[in-house]
Amino acid sequence: MKIRSLYFYCLSLCLLLCFSAFASTPLCKTNPIQGGIVILPIAKITQTKPRVYFHDLPVMTLKKNKQWVAVIGIPLTQKPGRLSIKVETPRSTKQEFFSIKHHHYQTEYITIKKSSTSRPNKKFLQRYTRERKMMKALLNHWSNRTPASLHFYRPAQGRISGRFGLERYFNGVLSSRHRGIDIAAAEGTKVHAASNGIVLNTGRYLFTGKTIFIDHGQGLITLYCHLSKILVKKGQVVRHGAVIGNIGHTGRATGPHLHWGVYLNRTSVSPTLFL
Ligand SMILES: [Zn+2]
Repeated sequence: MKIRSLYFYCLSLCLLLCFSAFASTPLCKTNPIQGGIVILPIAKITQTKPRVYFHDLPVMTLKKNKQWVAVIGIPLTQKPGRLSIKVETPRSTKQEFFSIKHHHYQTEYITIKKSSTSRPNKKFLQRYTRERKMMKALLNHWSNRTPASLHFYRPAQGRISGRFGLERYFNGVLSSRHRGIDIAAAEGTKVHAASNGIVLNTGRYLFTGKTIFIDHGQGLITLYCHLSKILVKKGQVVRHGAVIGNIGHTGRATGPHLHWGVYLNRTSVSPTLFL
C-alpha cells in the first residue's frame, strides 16, 4: 500500500513538473494599432529565455506552445508603420520587425469660455506635479514574475461609460487621451482584482481619487481609480477576482464609476483586449 501511494505521489509530482515546464500563460487578444498589443514569436522554447526591448524598454516574454513570444504594448502616440524589437540571447542579438496600423479613436470637443476658466493655484499645481511623478514611477514598475494569465476578470459589473483612447479637445487643443475604460455603477459596487498579483501601492490622488495599483509581473500593471473604499494594502497578494475595493467618485469624477487602466511596457493599452 505504501509503495502504491509513493508511486502515485511520484507520478503526480512528475506530471506537475512536466506541466509547469511546458505550461503557457493564457494570452490576451492582439490588435496591431496605437494603444493595442502585438504578440510576436521570437525563439524556440528549447532556447534560453531571450531578453526583449521595445524603444529600449523591457518587454514581457512568455511561453506559448513550443515558442517564446514577446507581448508588446503599443503607445497611443506611436506613429503607424514598421517597428522593431531587439531580441537578446546569450549567443546573439537580433531585430524582429512588425507593423502597426493607424486607428481613429473617438474624439470629444469641449468649448469653454475663457472667462469661466480659473487658473489653478500654486499649491494645486505642486501637488499635481508630485502625484504625476509618483504615479508614473508606479506604472513603470518591472518585476520578473511571470503573469498567471492575460485573460482578466472584469473588475466591475456596470455600463461602459468611457472608452479607451478617447481624445479630448478643449477649445480646439488636444488636452488629454483616455488611458483606460470607465465602468459606471452604483456607489459601493464591488471592484475585483483583474488577475493574480501583488498590490504595488494604494493612495488618494487629486485627479484619480482613491486608487489601487496591482503588479501582475513583467511590466503588466492594472490601475483602479475613483474608489469609495480601498480594501487592500501595499504588498498584499491578491487572487484573480478578489474584492479589492468599492466603486465611488473620489478625485475628479462627475459620478460613481471605476476608471480601469492596463499598462504594459510602461504604456497604457486597451483593457478590453484582456477581457
Ligand atoms: Zn476614465
